[in-house]
Amino acid sequence: MAIDATRPYDDQNIFAKILRGEIPSTRIYEDEWAYAFPDINPQAPLHILVIPKGAYVSWDDFSAAAPAEEIAGFIRAVGHVAREHGLVEPGYRLLANIGGHGGQEVPHLHVHLFGGQLLGPMIV
Ligand code: C5P
Repeated sequence: MAIDATRPYDDQNIFAKILRGEIPSTRIYEDEWAYAFPDINPQAPLHILVIPKGAYVSWDDFSAAAPAEEIAGFIRAVGHVAREHGLVEPGYRLLANIGGHGGQEVPHLHVHLFGGQLLGPMIV
């Protein structure tokens, strides 16, 4: 069920547990600001989730409240993961779902990175 992106951060959400190592995941990339792992239900040959290490529900509170250094670090990490997987050419897609209408299900900010095939047009 999609979440309300204005709710307070819940440190028992599944991605917080992954960050703390309480739930296993396959680490694709990690640095001071971000952690990347494969989506458990891939929608493309390559489907990676990149999450900030900070406690943010969605892109909304992240963009409003995170320190500039943290925002830069996270965005750089997403780009790094894409480059490391050879996605820049032929190309890839980034997606962040936000709140109810966005269909966000996990209340910890995450960016979906899709690649590995010619992706269809965006379907809203
Ligand atoms: O953007 P949204 O919140 O809808 O996406 C959540 C994503 O998290 C889904 O693609 C789902 O497959 C993934 N997921 C995961 N591992 C979990 C729970 C959810 O990769 N344990």
